[in-house]
Amino acid sequence: MKKQAEKPSTPERKRKPFLRRKVCRFCTDKKLEIDYKNPKILRFFITERGKIIPRRISGNCAKHQRQITLAIKRARNIALLPFTTVTK
Ligand SMILES: [Zn+2]
Repeated sequence: MKKQAEKPSTPERKRKPFLRRKVCRFCTDKKLEIDYKNPKILRFFITERGKIIPRRISGNCAKHQRQITLAIKRARNIALLPFTTVTK
């Protein structure tokens, strides 16, 4: 009476072709600071239409994604970033 445990001891790490595993850039680069007064950095994390890019895609960690979200919202309030980009 053997109970077959089908738990693989080592899960295979396969690379998904269309989703690169990015590491949070703020964790990687300590010099990078999330600053709501710096739209250059924040622009990496918004779409062309001014939407915030979700964590799944941006690859940020939860901690930094929250800070970015906050920074973007602040930047919007002081008109450094658009709420939506007007397409002509
Ligand atoms: Zn991070």
